[in-house]
Amino acid sequence: MTPPTTSADTSVPSPFLTEEHVQIRDMVREFALREVAPIASELDETKRFPHETVKKLAELGLLGVPWPQEYGGAGLDHVAYMIVVEELSRVCGTTGITVAAHTSLGTAPIYAFGTEAQRRKWVPRLASGEALGAFALTEPGAGSDAKATKVTAVRDGDAWVVNGTKIYCTNGTHAASIVFTARTDPKATGTDSICAFVVEKGTPGLHYGKLEDKLGLRGSDTREIVFQDCRLPAENRLGPEGGGFGQFMKTLEGGRISIGAMALGLAQGALDVALAHARERKQFGLRLVEMQAVGNRLADMAMEIAAARNLVYEAAWRKDRGMPYALQGSYAKLFASEVAMRAAHSAVQVLGGIGYTREYPAERILRDSKLTEIGEGTSEIQRLVIARHLDKLAGA
Ligand SMILES: Cc1cc2nc3c(=O)[nH]c(=O)nc-3n(C[C@H](O)[C@H](O)[C@H](O)COP(=O)(O)OP(=O)(O)OC[C@H]3O[C@@H](n4cnc5c(N)ncnc54)[C@H](O)[C@@H]3O)c2cc1C
Repeated sequence: MTPPTTSADTSVPSPFLTEEHVQIRDMVREFALREVAPIASELDETKRFPHETVKKLAELGLLGVPWPQEYGGAGLDHVAYMIVVEELSRVCGTTGITVAAHTSLGTAPIYAFGTEAQRRKWVPRLASGEALGAFALTEPGAGSDAKATKVTAVRDGDAWVVNGTKIYCTNGTHAASIVFTARTDPKATGTDSICAFVVEKGTPGLHYGKLEDKLGLRGSDTREIVFQDCRLPAENRLGPEGGGFGQFMKTLEGGRISIGAMALGLAQGALDVALAHARERKQFGLRLVEMQAVGNRLADMAMEIAAARNLVYEAAWRKDRGMPYALQGSYAKLFASEVAMRAAHSAVQVLGGIGYTREYPAERILRDSKLTEIGEGTSEIQRLVIARHLDKLAGA
């Protein structure tokens, strides 16, 4: 069933939004309701990747929002990009993560750390949406502890020979290019032997392993990537030798804002469903929204969503101005993901029995939201990052 998504709107004018941002929001919102919402539950139930939506998003220029037009992007900013992820995630988490992983993880490191030749080679196809991108950092033994990378890339003449396994690579199966990390000295354990590389689909030795069967975001592609003597041209190394770990950490600082935006959209979607139901359903002769306990729950959801929205937009706004944003990105991701979980939990409760069924999207939102507390640094890691910032700032 199509979710009732139009009844609640806490997106009041914000100091972070220009008129252009509001126009983009309205355009994406209309697109999301018309094209994405009607298929969201089918994607979830059948675990189908939304190829047709990806094509439509490319036509609208929504797969390269923050990149300059000369590189195939829309030439907008990161606030606009967060609005896009938020509005898509509001109706479909699968679509939201597909766009966020493609943009913040699959394209951003090439744009940020690539040479001009590398940018020209890969970014236009990605930013225009002609092709999807992906990012592979996580390994079986290297999750939160990304320094424990074991994939190796050994120099052999004018090539790098890559071996090892990456896991949980979003968009991995469909990506034309995957940015990944590997150790150039297999015996080393420090971060200075970790480099970033780009591998293109179809490269001999690049294999696709297990496709994850997940709790939520079930239409999203989450793939194991296996390298077996995969030979990459020397020019596929991104940035300086030994710089890969730092580049990936920097990439995640930006990516976290987009996971915050995704969480924000999911939370708003939960409020949409809960409010619409609470305004219609009557028990004891009263609409649910008129009962104080239900009203309080809705009020808390709306207030937390408004606060999360400000954190997400502020982090993106800072990034757009070249200001430090790592701390604000962690605030945004941590807070918005926990707000999404609370909002989704509340939505199921406000709906009662029907909230527990697949008739309404509340249960899907609950399942989809959980990833936002895990991907791109778990909540525990965000608290660690924030505490380190606080310590550093206090000592400065
Ligand atoms: C759907 C999905 C999509 C993903 N997409 C991508 C992707 O595109 N690319 C990619 O590279 N990765 C991706 N990931 C991987 C994701 O980033 C990792 O799962 C995440 O970083 C956690 O790593 P882990 O799963 O190994 O958990 P672990 O690191 O094993 O953590 C397990 C638990 O221990 C806690 N913990 C670990 N270390 C500490 C510590 N120092 N202090 C306190 N608590 C700690 C964690 O917070 C967590 O609760 C994806 C994962 C999922 C589920």
